[in-house]
Amino acid sequence: MFCSYCGKELAPHAVVCTGCGAASPSAPSAPGTVPAAPAAGPQTRSRLGAGLLGIFLGSLGVHRFYLGFTGIGLAQLLLTVLSPLTCGLTWLIAAAWGFIEGILVLVGVIDRDAQGELLRD
Ligand SMILES: [Zn+2]
Repeated sequence: MFCSYCGKELAPHAVVCTGCGAASPSAPSAPGTVPAAPAAGPQTRSRLGAGLLGIFLGSLGVHRFYLGFTGIGLAQLLLTVLSPLTCGLTWLIAAAWGFIEGILVLVGVIDRDAQGELLRD
Protein backbone atom coordinates (compact mmCIF):
# COMPACT_ATOMS: atom_id res chain seq x y z
CA MET A 1 0.00 0.00 0.00
CA PHE A 2 1.26 3.47 -0.84
CA CYS A 3 0.39 6.93 0.38
CA SER A 4 -2.11 8.54 -1.98
CA TYR A 5 -0.54 11.95 -1.37
CA CYS A 6 3.22 11.44 -1.59
CA GLY A 7 3.51 7.87 -2.89
CA LYS A 8 5.65 6.60 -0.03
CA GLU A 9 5.16 2.96 0.83
CA LEU A 10 3.15 2.56 4.03
CA ALA A 11 3.34 -0.08 6.74
CA PRO A 12 0.32 -2.45 6.43
CA HIS A 13 -1.52 -0.95 9.40
CA ALA A 14 -0.10 2.53 9.36
CA VAL A 15 -2.59 5.17 10.42
CA VAL A 16 -0.66 8.08 9.00
CA CYS A 17 1.99 8.32 6.30
CA THR A 18 5.47 8.67 7.76
CA GLY A 19 6.50 10.69 4.72
CA CYS A 20 3.92 13.44 4.65
CA GLY A 21 1.66 12.85 7.65
CA ALA A 22 -1.48 12.30 5.59
CA ALA A 23 -4.04 9.84 6.94
CA SER A 24 -3.58 6.37 5.49
CA PRO A 25 -6.45 5.10 3.29
CA SER A 26 -6.87 2.15 5.67
CA ALA A 27 -7.15 4.31 8.76
CA PRO A 28 -10.63 4.60 10.20
CA SER A 29 -12.04 8.07 9.81
CA ALA A 30 -11.65 10.18 12.88
CA PRO A 31 -14.87 11.49 14.39
CA GLY A 32 -15.85 14.71 12.75
CA THR A 33 -14.19 13.92 9.45
CA VAL A 34 -17.01 11.73 8.15
CA PRO A 35 -18.44 13.45 5.07
CA ALA A 36 -21.88 14.82 5.74
CA ALA A 37 -24.67 12.87 4.09
CA PRO A 38 -26.38 14.81 1.31
CA ALA A 39 -29.44 16.67 2.46
CA ALA A 40 -32.35 14.25 2.10
CA GLY A 41 -35.17 16.74 2.41
CA PRO A 42 -38.00 16.32 -0.08
CA GLN A 43 -37.39 18.42 -3.15
CA THR A 44 -40.93 19.61 -3.74
CA ARG A 45 -41.54 21.36 -6.99
CA SER A 46 -43.21 24.70 -7.43
CA ARG A 47 -46.80 24.75 -8.67
CA LEU A 48 -46.45 28.28 -9.98
CA GLY A 49 -43.21 27.38 -11.74
CA ALA A 50 -44.69 24.31 -13.38
CA GLY A 51 -47.84 26.19 -14.42
CA LEU A 52 -45.94 29.07 -15.99
CA LEU A 53 -43.58 26.68 -17.78
CA GLY A 54 -46.61 24.90 -19.23
CA ILE A 55 -48.24 28.12 -20.38
CA PHE A 56 -45.13 29.64 -21.97
CA LEU A 57 -43.01 26.62 -22.90
CA GLY A 58 -45.66 23.91 -22.95
CA SER A 59 -45.06 23.07 -26.60
CA LEU A 60 -41.55 21.95 -25.60
CA GLY A 61 -42.84 19.82 -22.71
CA VAL A 62 -40.66 21.78 -20.28
CA HIS A 63 -43.27 21.69 -17.50
CA ARG A 64 -43.50 17.91 -17.88
CA PHE A 65 -39.73 17.49 -17.66
CA TYR A 66 -39.79 19.80 -14.64
CA LEU A 67 -42.38 17.60 -12.91
CA GLY A 68 -40.52 14.41 -13.85
CA PHE A 69 -42.96 13.13 -16.50
CA THR A 70 -40.22 12.63 -19.04
CA GLY A 71 -42.25 10.48 -21.45
CA ILE A 72 -45.07 13.01 -21.81
CA GLY A 73 -42.54 15.82 -22.08
CA LEU A 74 -40.75 13.98 -24.88
CA ALA A 75 -44.07 13.46 -26.69
CA GLN A 76 -44.81 17.18 -26.54
CA LEU A 77 -41.28 18.05 -27.61
CA LEU A 78 -41.55 15.58 -30.50
CA LEU A 79 -44.77 17.20 -31.71
CA THR A 80 -42.96 20.55 -31.83
CA VAL A 81 -39.90 19.07 -33.53
CA LEU A 82 -42.15 17.55 -36.20
CA SER A 83 -44.07 20.77 -36.81
CA PRO A 84 -42.10 21.81 -39.92
CA LEU A 85 -43.37 18.60 -41.54
CA THR A 86 -46.98 19.29 -40.56
CA CYS A 87 -47.19 23.00 -41.43
CA GLY A 88 -47.13 23.75 -37.70
CA LEU A 89 -50.20 21.66 -36.93
CA THR A 90 -48.41 19.43 -34.40
CA TRP A 91 -46.85 22.51 -32.79
CA LEU A 92 -50.37 23.92 -32.30
CA ILE A 93 -51.43 20.65 -30.67
CA ALA A 94 -48.39 20.61 -28.38
CA ALA A 95 -48.76 24.28 -27.48
CA ALA A 96 -52.48 23.90 -26.68
CA TRP A 97 -51.75 20.71 -24.75
CA GLY A 98 -49.01 22.36 -22.68
CA PHE A 99 -51.03 25.54 -22.18
CA ILE A 100 -54.04 23.61 -20.88
CA GLU A 101 -51.80 21.56 -18.59
CA GLY A 102 -50.22 24.76 -17.31
CA ILE A 103 -53.70 26.06 -16.40
CA LEU A 104 -54.59 22.71 -14.80
CA VAL A 105 -51.45 22.91 -12.67
CA LEU A 106 -52.20 26.47 -11.60
CA VAL A 107 -55.79 25.70 -10.60
CA GLY A 108 -54.69 22.55 -8.78
CA VAL A 109 -56.21 19.83 -10.99
CA ILE A 110 -52.67 18.55 -11.58
CA ASP A 111 -51.23 18.80 -8.08
CA ARG A 112 -48.52 16.16 -7.94
CA ASP A 113 -45.23 15.47 -9.65
CA ALA A 114 -44.09 12.15 -11.11
CA GLN A 115 -42.94 10.98 -7.66
CA GLY A 116 -46.40 11.61 -6.20
CA GLU A 117 -45.19 14.59 -4.19
CA LEU A 118 -47.63 17.45 -3.77
CA LEU A 119 -46.48 20.59 -5.51
CA ARG A 120 -45.63 23.45 -3.20
CA ASP A 121 -47.36 26.79 -3.56
ZN1 LIG B 1 2.54 10.50 2.29
